Amino acid sequence: MKLPFAENYRIKMVEPIYRSTREERENWIRQADYNLFNLRSNQVYIDLLTDSGTGAMSDRQWAAVMTGDESYAGSSSFFNLKDRVKQLFGFDYLLPVHQGRAAENVLFSVLVKEGNVVPGNSHFDTTKGHIEFRKAQAIDCTIDEAFDTTVYHPFKGNIDLNKLQLVLESYPKEQIPMIIVTVTCNSSGGQPVSMNNLRQVKQLADTYGIPVVFDSARFAENAWFIQQREEGYADKSIKEIVAEMYSYADGMTMSSKKDGIVNIGGLLAMRSKEWFDQASVYNIMYEGFLTYGGMSGRDMNALAVGLDEATEADYLEARISQVHYLGNQLIEAGIPVQQPLGGHAVFVEARRFLPAVPREEYVAQTLAVELYLEAGVRGVEVGTLLADRDPVTHENRYPSTEYLRLAIPRRTYTNNHIDVVAAGLINLYERRDQITHGFTIEHEAPIMRHFTVGLKKID
Ligand SMILES: *Cc1c(COP(=O)(O)O)cnc(C)c1O
Repeated sequence: MKLPFAENYRIKMVEPIYRSTREERENWIRQADYNLFNLRSNQVYIDLLTDSGTGAMSDRQWAAVMTGDESYAGSSSFFNLKDRVKQLFGFDYLLPVHQGRAAENVLFSVLVKEGNVVPGNSHFDTTKGHIEFRKAQAIDCTIDEAFDTTVYHPFKGNIDLNKLQLVLESYPKEQIPMIIVTVTCNSSGGQPVSMNNLRQVKQLADTYGIPVVFDSARFAENAWFIQQREEGYADKSIKEIVAEMYSYADGMTMSSKKDGIVNIGGLLAMRSKEWFDQASVYNIMYEGFLTYGGMSGRDMNALAVGLDEATEADYLEARISQVHYLGNQLIEAGIPVQQPLGGHAVFVEARRFLPAVPREEYVAQTLAVELYLEAGVRGVEVGTLLADRDPVTHENRYPSTEYLRLAIPRRTYTNNHIDVVAAGLINLYERRDQITHGFTIEHEAPIMRHFTVGLKKID
């Protein structure tokens, strides 16, 4: 018998979690205005809200925490991180920041001006927020296949080169400060970008003289998909693949709460000294001195180790197998999910799951609340609430797909927990005809409303 796959780690420390009753959850979610962000974590049994900052650090990372150097300037922890960034990504200039959106804030303060356009592949919500906040526009150039859950494409995060070229031709060079490629592409389902696409985007960008920046939260998962799915990469190590990927970038922003496997932190790295000098001013203003920028020495040390562990094939296999273990159970039950399965999360297609609930009643949010009531599992809406209103017309922006995202924290839950999640969704699917109404909005913020929105149930 072939030995089955199992994780390349064992567990040294445990954290109790509470299994609540449905009656308790009904009270809690009502008090939370049907917004899962308003729940207390002890009201959640299995928390798949996000894979951001929720992973379990290794014993090597905790050991690195103990040797963190908390000097204000020039700490050894900074140089540990700087060396790792140089080794993995090839960039000479590093600015640590407190998390991913801070890297965006610092870099965009240098690059993005009013009236600019920033093409990319389904920009992440904070990325888009930081662009629109500067009265510039994010233009989505993702391939059309990404938005059709019924078609298979191995790299649904890819940029459509024709769409990109159209943008590059339509605007003067001065109005396009950069192209942002998100690896993997979170908003369109945790989908990877192929090496070939990264290479072609860079070639096209070079002919127009436009820099390319990678939004790098899940760069290691992206590299794993290249190794698994792209011809010519099966025998390359993850670290070799990462090095080639970043040879096609001029800079990177990173939320290290994802593939950095730390609980907080981020970074900005680049090739250009000119960008670095300009960004340094903003880093000092918004984040902290150049050698810590919003991170403690121990956090930078843990990140340096985390980046090393995340780019090992054994770790990535365990990580992504667990995501697929959930996805495959749902697929077998006939539940509509984004395919192929992505790297960090399973995206359930809410409109096909709950066809009776109108979009105007926030169908993906409805599914998220139902799953919480059923099994104490917290997922998150990636649909109309997240898409916000059009900045000009103030109408709801209806995205082409409404998802319930189930993001799996790294090294945190066992497959028994995953079985509970799958069973909860399957139960709901079996009685989906009885779920016919969703919510109306009671109050919302002008930007990134999904975090704080209050909802009212429609009966
Ligand atoms: C999480 C994330 C960000 C923002 O990072 P934070 O650490 O949450 O501020 C930006 N881009 C992508 C693709 C992300 O996944």
